[in-house]
Amino acid sequence: MSTHDQADPGSTPEAHQLSVLERENQTLRSEIEELTANRNELLAVINQDPHTGLPIRRVFDRDFRTVSEDHAHHNDLLAVAVVRLDRRYDRIKNSRDRGKVFLFRTAARMRETIGERVYQSDRIDEFLLLMGATKNERRARSTAEAIVREVSMPHEPPAKDVAFGCSVGICLYKDGDAQREEILGNAYIALDESEATGRPVVVYNEEMGRRYHEKETIEKELRRAIQDGFDEFSIVYQPFVDRDGRIHGCEALIRWNNRILGPIPPGRFIGVAEENGDIRFIGQWTLYNACRQLRDWREAYGTSMYVSVNLSPSQFKQTDLVERISGILGALKLPGDALKLEITEGVVMEDPEDAITKMEEIRSHGVRISIDDFGIGYSSLNYLRRLPINTLKIDKSFIDDLSANTNNREIVKAIISMARGLKIEALAEGVETLEQLEFLLAEECNSIQGYLFSPPVAADEFSAFLKAGGVVACCRDMSAS
Ligand code: C2E
Ligand code: MG
Ligand code: MG
Repeated sequence: MSTHDQADPGSTPEAHQLSVLERENQTLRSEIEELTANRNELLAVINQDPHTGLPIRRVFDRDFRTVSEDHAHHNDLLAVAVVRLDRRYDRIKNSRDRGKVFLFRTAARMRETIGERVYQSDRIDEFLLLMGATKNERRARSTAEAIVREVSMPHEPPAKDVAFGCSVGICLYKDGDAQREEILGNAYIALDESEATGRPVVVYNEEMGRRYHEKETIEKELRRAIQDGFDEFSIVYQPFVDRDGRIHGCEALIRWNNRILGPIPPGRFIGVAEENGDIRFIGQWTLYNACRQLRDWREAYGTSMYVSVNLSPSQFKQTDLVERISGILGALKLPGDALKLEITEGVVMEDPEDAITKMEEIRSHGVRISIDDFGIGYSSLNYLRRLPINTLKIDKSFIDDLSANTNNREIVKAIISMARGLKIEALAEGVETLEQLEFLLAEECNSIQGYLFSPPVAADEFSAFLKAGGVVACCRDMSAS
């Protein structure tokens, strides 16, 4: 028995009992205090990101509720934002151990700029800001711009060479407007837009949301339509006409008639497919089916016409592209010159040396190559000289206002004479009027594609051109006039 438990000689048994209880109570209290301290420490650790020391997403959710409750029944405009570090941070992260130090400093800079309400999202390079009440969009924007400025400042010596920036997506809302998930989702949509456009701060609006959800629907439908066996897709063909009015080739252009959305032009889904990788399947399908159609035409009409198929940037980069192409040609017993591939200047200029190697490989199979939409990109003329290409397709935008714009006339003349100098074909896209045609013929443009002769048409309709000897109506009119 300890001395504490010794009874006070003058006390009653009740008093003794009471003092024992008090002592026990005291011990319990200090144990509870210790436990609480431990618990708080533990909570702080659990609720904190180990790299940045910022409160984590769960804490954001709780604080979001608190802010909303504080502003309930007020007419305040509230703001949340998502901040994501840019690609330059990735390089630092991958190449230096100090990546985490910069992350910590970035978190500190944001806190210095807007106070405590900075949280770590589920990604290491992404943060959530509970900006709270803001007077108007301009205010929220300027706060976010301050964040961008601070984050983008170069780091002090010895890391003076380290600098990276960030993108910010903001969603403004009023309490009771919407659920947290939706508000944060909107901030993420704005962040997407910021990254896609390069504008460092973007504030969400309904139009942005509509476009985003439309893109999402297209993406979902595209995946399903591919898995369902391409029934919703078809290919249309548009003739290339030479100076004598004869069809010597055609461009294969994909069409998609969706069960819910109706016809969706390629301009609205090719980019989406390119982003999510589905272009691989679409590209292979188009390439095979266009070649098979050409084989049928060659067999049925004895024509030596070729088909020209568009290759998207990521298709061109596919490592097995050449095998795929030669596989299709082999399976259909078609010679290489039955196929032409259209790529854009951007694809080539991204990595010219690599592109040239790939193009040479393609051409070694007899397949020819066009530069599509020529003139709107930034081709270096120096590279152009070295590119193993067969055709320059003059972009439609130059042809559109040939008559009104003397600059365009000069550009088109220059492209045609450049093609002549390089001993390759000049093909004008989007020719719609006789005036344009006459100008192009006078400048000795080799080939014409455009509504003046024919829009892209279904295979059956195209067969009718071949049945008629490979001549389209406009040319007959031309020769008659
Ligand atoms: P592009 O390769 O430059 O194709 C030419 C576009 O101009 C086609 O639009 C064609 O219908 C249109 N066009 C041709 N002549 C005229 C004309 O006289 N007037 C007008 N207003 N338009 C004319 P389309 O079919 O909507 O295709 C748009 C773009 O989508 C294509 O531009 C190409 O970049 C892409 N695309 C189409 N099919 C495929 C495909 O199978 N694979 C890939 N990767 N891209 C494709
Ligand atoms: Mg094309
Ligand atoms: Mg084009």
